[in-house]
Amino acid sequence: MTATLETTSQAPAPSTAPPAWTIEESENLYRIEGWGDPYFSINAAGHVTVSPQGDHGGSLDLYELVEGLRKRNIGLPLLLRFSDILADRINRINAAFARGIARYKYPNSYRGVYPIKCNQHRHIVEALVRYGKPYYFGLEAGSKPELMIALAMLEPAESPDMEANQSLLICNGYKDREYIETALLARRLGHRPIIVVEQVSEVTLAIEISQALGIKPILGVRAKLSTQGVGRWGISTGDRAKFGLTIPEMLAVVNQLKAVEMLDCLQLLHFHIGSQISSISVIKEAMTEASQIYVQLAKLGANMQYLDVGGGLGVDYDGSKTNFYASKNYNIQNYVNDVISAVQEACEAATVPCPTLISESGRAIASHQSVLIFDVLATNDIPQQLPEPQSEKEHLIIRNLWETWEMISAENYQEAYHDAVQFKEEAISLFNFGYLGLKERARAEQLYWACCSKILDICRQQAYVPDDLEDLELSMSSIYYVNMSVFQSAPDSWAIDQLFPIMPIHRLDEEPTQRGILADITCDSDGKIDRFIDLRDVKSVLELHPLRQLPPAANRDHPPVFEPYYLGMFLMGAYQEIMGNLHNLFGDINVVHIQMTPKGYQIEHLVKGDTIAEVLSYVQYDAEDLLENMRCYTEKALEDDRMSLEESQLLLENYERSLLHYTYLKN
Ligand SMILES: *Cc1c(COP(=O)(O)O)cnc(C)c1O
Repeated sequence: MTATLETTSQAPAPSTAPPAWTIEESENLYRIEGWGDPYFSINAAGHVTVSPQGDHGGSLDLYELVEGLRKRNIGLPLLLRFSDILADRINRINAAFARGIARYKYPNSYRGVYPIKCNQHRHIVEALVRYGKPYYFGLEAGSKPELMIALAMLEPAESPDMEANQSLLICNGYKDREYIETALLARRLGHRPIIVVEQVSEVTLAIEISQALGIKPILGVRAKLSTQGVGRWGISTGDRAKFGLTIPEMLAVVNQLKAVEMLDCLQLLHFHIGSQISSISVIKEAMTEASQIYVQLAKLGANMQYLDVGGGLGVDYDGSKTNFYASKNYNIQNYVNDVISAVQEACEAATVPCPTLISESGRAIASHQSVLIFDVLATNDIPQQLPEPQSEKEHLIIRNLWETWEMISAENYQEAYHDAVQFKEEAISLFNFGYLGLKERARAEQLYWACCSKILDICRQQAYVPDDLEDLELSMSSIYYVNMSVFQSAPDSWAIDQLFPIMPIHRLDEEPTQRGILADITCDSDGKIDRFIDLRDVKSVLELHPLRQLPPAANRDHPPVFEPYYLGMFLMGAYQEIMGNLHNLFGDINVVHIQMTPKGYQIEHLVKGDTIAEVLSYVQYDAEDLLENMRCYTEKALEDDRMSLEESQLLLENYERSLLHYTYLKN
């Protein structure tokens, strides 16, 4: 007997153990290939890896990278930027246009520009200008400050005869005299600014300034297309759109230029139908309309040279390759082919020379390079323990709940759910009238949650979940408290419900048994993320791992310490940083620029996040003054014997040290 028992206990895990979770299952669950290919994947250790150079080049283990940064005292949350990804994006879009131009034998070239508003940070614009140089990749400015960035960051042509080959500087946005004058004067430096007229009054100004300076402008007009965009940003077109000229206004501009013999200055047609265009049919329709306008302008005698198709090239945030707003049903090459073929068809039919093509893709260039990494501070879970057996003496309502729990099955789970809800509500009424004590109410709630948990297990196995049970998953989910501010680091998630892929960056060889929503550390109930990417539509909870407790410390009274659990939020490089705000005074986060080297990687730049003293200064507090106030208060408390000298020193030291610290929590 004994011998047999011993052998059993030494045998490998019995075959009844649940099959081990595989990395492939994590890949499918988090859809990493759909949105992350070719930059992000999962390695054998169950960690997310980054291949900043796409298909050709080494990869980094994201978890190891974060651990390495923490050892360098760079705290979380942090934003990782991979400049090699930026380079790869630029290469890709230019290669796609080169391929399209060759395929259609398009008799002109492509000159892309990067819209600065998408991410204005200096290191990014510097890298873009550097990587874009071989392609004459230019910049687009949408405001005076952005114009100032573009003028100083782009390198002007060295000599006038090289000017035609110069990267373009597209000047969009509302313009005043100073804007236009500055842009015009920049031509003398060897820049190639194109002033895009967005309002009729701008052309009057441009004519006047050009005559005063004796510098001929290159002008463009922005068209208000009647093609309606779709999705979140689909309102940039149509008659009441905020930007651009209607056809009658465009004709007025042509006539005005003609009257002063400057129609040869009008060389570009621009349109922008909105960002994240999820459907290729919208792009085709816009291209058809814009190509006709282009041809007609040429026929009116304008010296047309450029067609600028704006931004809108989408990013597949959910990896579904559909026209869902968080996705797109086309790839870069489809987009490029449609752009090229539409213009070519219209121009050839009208025997108008084909234009140089310009696109202003921001999101598609800048999104992939940034990853936001943050840690989980704690979780709040619905208690999962089995209810204790009932006793005869218990209140009827509790016996009812118990029986409901016992009887739940795949046949009656929907009905059982309604019973459980009703009994719980009755229990609360009874409590409010004084018929149930606190302990009994606790027992009722525990039984209710046990019912929900059992019902949910059944729901998860059903192909179809009845409508009334759809919210059950959400109400049973855990809350993962995360060390970041949605308002600072993912403002579009809060403001316009944009979806970003989110997943753990390690433990991916382990089944994520929990379902959770994320709550940030601001004191705002909106500071949460409860919509996650899914193959179809969105899901309200994310699969996550339970926090793992570290072995208890020598000091037993110490609260449990958890192993770090890191989550990554991906495709964060466009628009998020600049639109982030200081809600609750959580400041800018640490930003680390990583560059691949033959031996691995190097930290190219470290941009430290705000300290508490810095964010306080944004709202006009002077750290020295605050500290001095605190010192006076402690002196007074000492004098009144309300505090010991040691206590006062500890308080002041904490206060002073905190001023120099990161605004986020230190784990
Ligand atoms: C915002 C904007 C862009 C960039 O759009 P993406 O969708 O990010 O590519 C391009 N052009 C203009 C005029 C814009 O306003």
